[in-house]
Amino acid sequence: MNMDFIRKLPVPRDVKLQFPLSSAVIELRQKRLEEIKKVFSGESNKFLLIIGPCSADREDAVMDYICRLAKVSEKVKDKILIIPRIYTNKPRTTGLGYKGMVHQPDPTKAEDMLEGIIAIRKLHTRAVEETGLLCADEMLYPENHRYLSDILGYVAVGARSVEDQQHRIVASGLDIPCGMKNPTSGDISIMINSIKAAQSCHTFLYRGWEVHSQSNPYAHAILRGSTNSHGQNIPNYHYEDLAALYEQYSASGLKNVATIVDVNHANSGKKYLEQIRICHEVLHSCRHNTDIGKMVKGFMIESYIEDGSQKVEEGVYGKSITDPCLGWEKSEKLIYDIADQIV
Ligand code: PEP
Ligand code: MN
Repeated sequence: MNMDFIRKLPVPRDVKLQFPLSSAVIELRQKRLEEIKKVFSGESNKFLLIIGPCSADREDAVMDYICRLAKVSEKVKDKILIIPRIYTNKPRTTGLGYKGMVHQPDPTKAEDMLEGIIAIRKLHTRAVEETGLLCADEMLYPENHRYLSDILGYVAVGARSVEDQQHRIVASGLDIPCGMKNPTSGDISIMINSIKAAQSCHTFLYRGWEVHSQSNPYAHAILRGSTNSHGQNIPNYHYEDLAALYEQYSASGLKNVATIVDVNHANSGKKYLEQIRICHEVLHSCRHNTDIGKMVKGFMIESYIEDGSQKVEEGVYGKSITDPCLGWEKSEKLIYDIADQIV
């Protein structure tokens, strides 16, 4: 093979033993997870906001951001469940560039996978310990999911992974809600098929084991827009898109028909300020049509301390080094504006 095996890394069980969760965190997680699941099952009418930076680039700024979110969360908790985005695994369109904290705990330094694994576990654990909020990450590498499997509250399978069999069958073995994004092509049936796969049982090979998954009834859709053959962004958050999704999804026989609308990416064309308008438009569609209102369970919003994005070398604290994000003041206002519209 044309690769060097540098060193053997600790398996997830060893890392979990070395960095265990306190019993308070374990208990809190169980409770909070139940609350999140109830949104997907329709037992709770709360609205989910999966909100935070495109990538968790540095621990200090991400913790600062999540602590701010926690204060806002307290004020809107009767209507909104906040799930901070701590995205430590980043898929890249060309495969090049920053691949997330798991690869590079310090984006200005060389890749170090051992430090990366420890850094992401510590960050996710600190976030729950210090704010009581369960966080979301992307399951980019299904084999690595178990380094975080006891701490996450939500996971997404990204647009570039959703057609992949391993992602789908590993999602079927998760005990947390798993959002399946529409693929970059925008084909809704691929997303629906991935939910079907994740809501089924499978026997397969995982981390050197023959395993059997129990199925994940909380696998659901995430609309993130698409890109056409000319490279143009095609949004899929408009009323007609939501109505068409409802029709196809509710006819599919799947459990817990639910979607999150990702208001950035190909929905905003990465014009991050548009996220505000898109949230308002979708909330309007939810009020206009009760089927849509029931199906849309929340938003995914890319938000950080500073507006926009920067190159890694610029080093501005709290400014995204991947997709452009909505800055803190605008994000805080948006959360209150969303809460005001939810009855
Ligand atoms: C993201 O959520 O930052 C992301 C990479 O999303 P997608 O898979 O939709 O491109
Ligand atoms: Mn992003």
